[in-house]
Amino acid sequence: MTIQQIINKVKSNNPKADLDLLKLAYDFADKAHDKQKRKTGEPYIQHSLHTAFLLAQIKADINTVIAGILHDVPEDTEKSLEDIEKNFGAEIAGLVEGITKLSKIKYRGVERYRESLRKMFLAMARDLRVILIKFCDRLHNLRTLDALPLEKRTRIARETMEIYAPIAGLLGIWRLKWQMEDICFKYLYGEEYKKLEYKYEVEKKVERNQYSQKIKNILDTPLRKEKIEYDIEDRFKHLYSIYMKMQNKNRKFDEIYDVFALRVIVPTISDCYKTMGIIHSLWKPNPDRIKDYIAVPKPNGYRSLHTTVFGPENRATEFQIRTREMHEEALYGIAAHWHYKQKDGDEASYTSQPQWIKEILRIQRESESTNDFISNLKLNVFHDRIFVFSPQGDVFDLPKNSTPVDFAYIVHTEIGNKATGTLINNKMSSLDQPLKNGDLVEIITEKNRKGPNRDWLKFVKTHRAREKIRQATKASKLDQIKKMIPGI
Ligand code: MN
Repeated sequence: MTIQQIINKVKSNNPKADLDLLKLAYDFADKAHDKQKRKTGEPYIQHSLHTAFLLAQIKADINTVIAGILHDVPEDTEKSLEDIEKNFGAEIAGLVEGITKLSKIKYRGVERYRESLRKMFLAMARDLRVILIKFCDRLHNLRTLDALPLEKRTRIARETMEIYAPIAGLLGIWRLKWQMEDICFKYLYGEEYKKLEYKYEVEKKVERNQYSQKIKNILDTPLRKEKIEYDIEDRFKHLYSIYMKMQNKNRKFDEIYDVFALRVIVPTISDCYKTMGIIHSLWKPNPDRIKDYIAVPKPNGYRSLHTTVFGPENRATEFQIRTREMHEEALYGIAAHWHYKQKDGDEASYTSQPQWIKEILRIQRESESTNDFISNLKLNVFHDRIFVFSPQGDVFDLPKNSTPVDFAYIVHTEIGNKATGTLINNKMSSLDQPLKNGDLVEIITEKNRKGPNRDWLKFVKTHRAREKIRQATKASKLDQIKKMIPGI
């Protein structure tokens, strides 16, 4: 990795970026790390450059990229934070300071786990960009994990899986989440990883490529006729999510990978709908699988059109259709927002973010100092949102005073419908008990339970739980009537 590669990437993100400062940061860090070497034997500066490059890749702003180059300087070299502030200003020094503080967090198993998460959220609250740097730092460390002894390798992989990946998911930075998860998957479940990788990369590859080429050929003519410029990609490989699906649903690889998926990226929203029309005129869609997440975005802000059609050879084929902007948001989450903010300077691009992130960003903009920001944040964001954890370590954000029933329906509709009891922080509790920030919530379900209790409507806080309970209890009433009057 060279500084020139980073310069090129930063320039393509933002032609007006201050490249001189970037070069200066490189000289500074290179001198500071001097003859230090990584465990891999490479010069230490390579790690700094890789971290910065990953940041440029997710379109972080120039100051974040610079902080990425400098991130290990105060801790590992003779140069201090004051030196950084003198040379690069308070903003960059603030980011580097955030990273140095975060690196003090050490993973010490489940008992310290929530504490670590809390610290991460606090750092995030201070400046979200600190977390972006930490993610990229971590991703490069993961890529060079082979150089470490087994025990350390496992510890880092587990910590990433349990703390970093869920937060990347909360922030919608799927690209980083997936990359981190696949590497950790390899280190934590080596055998399973190898088997899946072989199936994906070797057994299915040729077939997949031929099929996707066939689809591209068929689609090309009508899309050209409509003058729609398009890009088609095979779906992002993410072995860990395939593995999780196989675990959760107890299905085999072939059953999951039966569905063939393609992504079509087009210039405008109206092109998205036109493209969906073209696809439906070529192949018959499955009406249950047509999803318009453009008109109705997912709660985390995700936008796209989804449809599954019976494609060539009658194979189920899923299409995701989206604009370039939606695509980048889906991959880079919060980071893409900075990019668009930088580009057009308006606030329209904030609209599709989850409510709590929107709030964080708004407060960050409006606060004059860091202290202001943190106290406003406590008042406004964490005031009416709480974060709770599942036993698997997933983090969920819920409105304040949510109950285990709200939690159950966020995890999965069936878990809500079959809930009979709950453990909060390993203690038996009632289903209407209001949850607190940091609670570890486990839902006890009973397979044979008919459905939810209508009385739950009296205490649930989320729209989702309310809707699901209404739906399920309506359905069971209908069942009762059907039993009474056979034949309807
Ligand atoms: Mn580092």
